[in-house]
Amino acid sequence: MREIGHWIDGKAVAGTSGRFGPVWNPATGEQAAQVALASLDEINAAVASARAAFPAWRRTGLGRRAEVMFRFRELLYTNRTELAKLITAEHGKTVDDALGELARGLENVEFACGAPSLLRGGFSEQVSTGVDVHEIRQPLGVVAGITPFNFPAMVPLWMLSNALVCGNAFILKPSERDPSASLLLADLLAQAGVPEGVFTVLQGDKLAVDTLLTHPDVEALSFVGSTPIARYVYETGTAAGKRVQALGGAKNHMIVLPDADIAAAADAAVSAGYGSAGERCMAVAVVAAVGDAADPLVEAIAERVRKIKVGPGADPDSEMGPVITREARDKIAGYLDTAKSDGATLVVDGREDPVYSGPGFFLAPSLVDNVSPTSKVYTDEIFGPVLAVVRCETYTEAVKLVEDNPYGNGVAIFTRDGGAARRFTFDVQAGMVGVNVPIPVPVAYYSFGGWKASLFGDLHMYGPDGIRFYTKTKVVTTRWPDPATSSVDLGFPRTR
Ligand code: NAD
Repeated sequence: MREIGHWIDGKAVAGTSGRFGPVWNPATGEQAAQVALASLDEINAAVASARAAFPAWRRTGLGRRAEVMFRFRELLYTNRTELAKLITAEHGKTVDDALGELARGLENVEFACGAPSLLRGGFSEQVSTGVDVHEIRQPLGVVAGITPFNFPAMVPLWMLSNALVCGNAFILKPSERDPSASLLLADLLAQAGVPEGVFTVLQGDKLAVDTLLTHPDVEALSFVGSTPIARYVYETGTAAGKRVQALGGAKNHMIVLPDADIAAAADAAVSAGYGSAGERCMAVAVVAAVGDAADPLVEAIAERVRKIKVGPGADPDSEMGPVITREARDKIAGYLDTAKSDGATLVVDGREDPVYSGPGFFLAPSLVDNVSPTSKVYTDEIFGPVLAVVRCETYTEAVKLVEDNPYGNGVAIFTRDGGAARRFTFDVQAGMVGVNVPIPVPVAYYSFGGWKASLFGDLHMYGPDGIRFYTKTKVVTTRWPDPATSSVDLGFPRTR
């Protein structure tokens, strides 16, 4: 069985713990490899290597660090097809979707190339006689990123680009379900000129996460994953004195008002609901259909859903691939039984498609209408190709649905009414809002993050917040000896 190891001290190394996790090919249902799960000794060695590499990297000129990022950008772009194929093989998403993930990840690297201007501090001359003040941003030291299975390259790129350009040493603990992309990223970073130890890949499970969360030489952690683990990571890391940003799960709503362009709304709901088999934290999971929009919208969505081509992600004809594991597939399918017993209408049942009984972890898209907000189909994050329609009588009822939902990641409104859209963006309790845009993932020069149970911490991820997260500020007050102003003064320093 092929073994997937770590990247420590600037090179690929095999795991020595004797512990492994299975890596599946979701399109065939067969185990493709096994990934090493780090031991305590390996985790400590990885942190020690990062710790040793940090001082020289922090002293490396800012222009040089940016230059390394420029080179990494070119290498990433040149190798995007190889990387996309690796992602497809372990995650299952289509190659085209994986290329989309990389395109968004590249944006983060491009943002990091411009970091020198963002790292500029302020300067105040003559705050007192002969006294100047300036502010500088300095790296934190060793920082770690813990990432989910659904974006094995993009989410690491959200973190590592800013962390590295700011002068930190970064340890990535990728998802153990699709670990290979991280090693190709490490190789490209090394080719771009990132020194040994500055970027580390530590494959592992809970032991690695728990050890990094409390390790005295780790200053900060970025986490992206499900809400229960995000909460745990935030609470454990902050209790140990670390800086933590922990992004959690989601249940994103798309509100469709009666005046919306129904065909365009249906296109958007289908693209955002079933793209990547619904395994996106910004996927639309709930369509809140208001008033007269409901009947024509459900019909238009159903018509489109029945035409989606489901198949292996490597097949260029496939529009939707399998989900990540058999357990995930069976759990998602179980919600279709729940829907029935809760009195919802199964408009399209993905289990009826032959792919469900074939090899691989396939479940064709399913559409459930008349879902009650008390049903688990509504309250749980299903994270699969199941789109729930909740019918609302009024705009107010639809907005209340979003308001009462514990998550607050993305939300969208579809309407032609600018006044309604403006009121919505002002009132709605979510971190990322789309107006006639179903997946409002911010571009790299804004920051990404949800509200409520979708994010624990103060700073969002990437963009300007990413620079803030990976640096600490220092304010320097300076007086140079000036014979004209120098005198003894035992009073408390005051501005004069
Ligand atoms: P997950 O929470 O199971 O795993 C995420 C990471 O945490 C992995 O690296 C995993 O090894 C680690 N982990 C898992 N269990 C742990 C435990 N008990 N203790 C310590 N570490 C643990 O998430 P996933 O299934 O890989 O990813 C899907 C989830 O991620 C969904 O909930 C999705 O909404 C969320 N997600 C959120 C965003 C966002 O930006 N908010 C983006 C992508 C994915």
